Amino acid sequence: AIYLDNAATTKPCQAAIGAINQCLTENYGNPSSLHHAGLQAQLAIDGVRRTLASILACEPGCIYFTSGATESNNLAVRGVAGAYGKHKPRVITTTVEHASVRESFRQLEQAGFEVIRIAPDSHGVFDPNAFVEAVNERTCLISMMLVNNETGHILPVRRVFYGAKRKNPQIITHCDAVQGFLKVPIRISELKADLLSLSGHKIHAAKGVGALYVRKGVRLTPLLFGGEQEHGIRPGTEPVPLIAGMGAAAAELAPTLAQRSQRVAALRAYLLEQLSPLPGITVHSPEDGSPYILNFSVANIRSEIMLHFLESKGIYVSSGSACSKGANSGVLEQFGATRAQADSAIRVSLCPENAKHELRSLVQAIAEGQATLKTAK
Ligand code: PMP
Repeated sequence: AIYLDNAATTKPCQAAIGAINQCLTENYGNPSSLHHAGLQAQLAIDGVRRTLASILACEPGCIYFTSGATESNNLAVRGVAGAYGKHKPRVITTTVEHASVRESFRQLEQAGFEVIRIAPDSHGVFDPNAFVEAVNERTCLISMMLVNNETGHILPVRRVFYGAKRKNPQIITHCDAVQGFLKVPIRISELKADLLSLSGHKIHAAKGVGALYVRKGVRLTPLLFGGEQEHGIRPGTEPVPLIAGMGAAAAELAPTLAQRSQRVAALRAYLLEQLSPLPGITVHSPEDGSPYILNFSVANIRSEIMLHFLESKGIYVSSGSACSKGANSGVLEQFGATRAQADSAIRVSLCPENAKHELRSLVQAIAEGQATLKTAK
C-alpha cells in the first residue's frame, strides 16, 4: 500500500518498537514502587522527560505525560479555566482548532465562559492584532495551534502570544503543537507558550501517549483524580512502554529535522508539479505552510468517493481530518475554500520515507478517478 496519511498517524519506527518491547519484557516495574524495578521504570520515564525537554529547550520537570494530545489539550484548556476562570471568564481561541481544543472550548462556553473565536481572513491569514484586541484583564487563556492538521497552515503563535502577554502578563498561553513537533523547530521560550501539547503517534511512536509542557508556576485543575503521579496533575500509573517509545522516536527524529523537512518539501513540490496538468484542482495549503501536508480539491468529486477509489488502488489519503471520520469540520472553509471545494478535498500528508513514484501513482489514480467517477451534484 501507498501510505499518504501521516497527519492522521505514522508508522512506528524501529527505535520506538525496540524501546516499547524492551520495557514490556524487561522494565515492567511500576514507577511508583520503591524497589529496584520501580526505580528502573522511573528512570526510563525521566529519561524521556529529559529527551523531550532538550528538544523543546525547557526544564524536564515541566513535561507531563498523558494518554495523547486529546487529553493534553483538554487538560490545558479546561485545567486553566478551572484554576483561573472564576474571576477571569474570558477565553480566546481560533476557528480552525482540532476537535479536542474546539470541543473543550464548547464545554467552557456551556459552563458560562465568554469564548472569543478568531478567524483567519479570506486568504487564510491570521491578524495577531485581532487576538491582542480581544485580550482584556478578565482573560485567563489564549489557545492557538501551531500547524493546522488539515491544511498545514502555520499560525503566527509567537506574535499572538507575545502581544497577548504584553497587554496582560497574567494570561496563560496554550499551543497545540501536535503537527509541528519535530517538523518545524519549536523553542518554548521563543513561542511564549505556557502550555504545549504533543502526541506520540504523530512522530512514529505508539498511539495512547502524549505530553503536556506546563511552565513552572502555572496552575491546572486536573481532569482525573487519584494518585500523586505526574505531581497529581495527571494521576494514574504511567504507560512506561509507550512513554519509552515516544522518547526513542523523538531522539531519533530530532537531529534530522532540517533534512527531513527538505526531503518532504521536495516531495510536496513534486506532487504539486504532477498535479498541475490535471483539470479542476484547487490547492488549499499555503506555499509557506508545513511541507508535510498538501490539501487540494478535485472539482465535482466528493472526498469520500475519491478516497475510496484511491483506496481501491492501494493508496491511503484522508478527507479533511481523520478525527471527524471524513465529515466536513468547517476548517477548510475558514481558510477560504468554498463549501463545494471543502466537500471534494483530499489531504495528502507525507513522511520522509515516501517516494516520488508513490506520488506519481497517486496522481495517475486521481486522473483515472476523474475519468471514471460520477460527478457530484
Ligand atoms: N491536535 C492536532 C492538531 C491533531 O492533529 C491531533 C491528531 N489528529 C490531535 C490534536 C489529537 O491527538 P491524539 O490523537 O494524540 O489524541
